[in-house]
Amino acid sequence: MGHPHEHAPRVTLAAALALLALPASAAPSFTGAERAAAARVRADEISGHLRFLADDLLEGRAPGQRGDEIAVRYLAAQMEAAGLEPGLPGQGGAPASWFQSVPLVKLTAQVPPLVEVRGARGALALSTRQSKEMDLVVAPGAEVDRVKLDHAELVFVGYGVTAPEYGWDDYRGADVRGKVVVVLNFNPPFAGEGVRLWYGRWDYKYENAARHGAAGAIIVHTTPSASYPWQVLTASADGTETALPQQPGEARLLAKMWVSEPAARKVFALAGQDLDERARAAQDLRRRGLGAAPLGVGLTLDMAVARAVTPSANVVGLVRGTDPKLAQEYVLYSAHHDHLGRATPIPPATDAIYNGALDNASGCATVLAIARAAAVAPPRRSLLFVFFTAEEKGLLGARWFARHPPAPVGRFAALINLDAVNVFGRTSDLTVLGLGRSSASDVVRDVAAAQGRTVHGDAFPDRGSYYRSDHFELARVGVPDVSVKGGPHYLGRPEDWGREQQKAFEQQRYHQPSDEYPPAPGRWDLSGAVEDAQLQLVVGLRVADAPELPRWKAGDEFEAARREALRAANAPGAVGGRAVTSP
Ligand SMILES: [Zn+2]
Repeated sequence: MGHPHEHAPRVTLAAALALLALPASAAPSFTGAERAAAARVRADEISGHLRFLADDLLEGRAPGQRGDEIAVRYLAAQMEAAGLEPGLPGQGGAPASWFQSVPLVKLTAQVPPLVEVRGARGALALSTRQSKEMDLVVAPGAEVDRVKLDHAELVFVGYGVTAPEYGWDDYRGADVRGKVVVVLNFNPPFAGEGVRLWYGRWDYKYENAARHGAAGAIIVHTTPSASYPWQVLTASADGTETALPQQPGEARLLAKMWVSEPAARKVFALAGQDLDERARAAQDLRRRGLGAAPLGVGLTLDMAVARAVTPSANVVGLVRGTDPKLAQEYVLYSAHHDHLGRATPIPPATDAIYNGALDNASGCATVLAIARAAAVAPPRRSLLFVFFTAEEKGLLGARWFARHPPAPVGRFAALINLDAVNVFGRTSDLTVLGLGRSSASDVVRDVAAAQGRTVHGDAFPDRGSYYRSDHFELARVGVPDVSVKGGPHYLGRPEDWGREQQKAFEQQRYHQPSDEYPPAPGRWDLSGAVEDAQLQLVVGLRVADAPELPRWKAGDEFEAARREALRAANAPGAVGGRAVTSP
């Protein structure tokens, strides 16, 4: 896979002399105050928090469970000890709070073992049994007692994308209300071959199908278009779905489905069509969207759905800014505190606890270290430290926070999110998700240069990582983000060493009970995490002290949301039409 590095320009002697002649203000070094703040971030502090949060005692921190409750209390207690204030204003005379409760709704469907698809040429029975032969993954989507689809018509909608800015609509000319759409994964090459946009994410496909009134959606899995094999989906296919409470008038799918590639071929064959030929037509940029095409076959599904609500919490702390006016604006730091909890181990494995040491005890530990370092000498704007719940359930804590912010989101200057820090040592470079999308990237570039490091974009643009972490939920409401991580080039290591470490982690520990601290076998080197945290701290301080808020670059997909948020923030006492008290 390509690695879009930004190389330093070749410098001639004359140019070098010209650089030397520049005034000192152009030199990208830290100020005295920044150096002092950075020096307060220590590896032993990160290690201590990490050791506690990743302990077996916390039972894998499943949101709303006892172990995660302990983590939540720990985060608040540590912020209090570091001199922060509770970050959520009290309503109606109540005192301010560290905790924002987030209701999680778990839907559990009794999925039938076989789902029938029938057309004029015959019928297919698709297996939903969790096995290698599984054809169809089925999950509920809406808060209903029963899902009943009786020969609901299947409609192929290509990539299922509605993108007015590209003049593109896969739903053109179709009425899919009450029907089941069949959708390809990924997106047409709008931003170049192999670049996944939000339009290329499966969650977008479901949202857009629901907006069009579809009863269900089936995403066609292929390993290249998903960037992971079918087993990843079947392993977690238990007929459950966790979501935020359904809002009045909110469109939801009754059934969210994935079909395996071989089973998808059979369904298309039953309709007298060829999947490959239809997929080719769907990505032809000249067609401006496929337009919906009924397949002439219907799907029958009948399943009961149970609903249970679990309370969980975001944790929020505040470092109040020193400027009376600018203190009403906030730079946010965030990390998700939840992980996968525990499960019955499959022998010979014995460990039942998903400690989530890297994912994301490491991010929480580092944000705590940044908070303590920042609280000693606050900047002009305020700093808000937010620990999100239920990231692993689909960014639900961050989504709730974006919908119920303690201040209008137009007064959030930027969000600096940490999800799995660099634990392999110091690096000469820094990966920046969404590099160049907002002026916050320019601040990152300057601070990295002051550390003697170069910056580059996402090494895996096909994965759509930008849309898979909590900062995305805030970007959607217009908040510019900073999402960075040192690497993959490690000081004193061979060229490919960093990528090998990353790959080994993904294969041996990612979302497994072996994501522990300290890792066994081996050790982590937190010197790189410290250097990244120093960068994140100084970036936040610079944004918090700057005369202007960061801006999205012209034409960015979140620019319009920001404009709307700034307008709403300037209307007195209003957040998207809802009155709130600011801290
Ligand atoms: Zn995770």
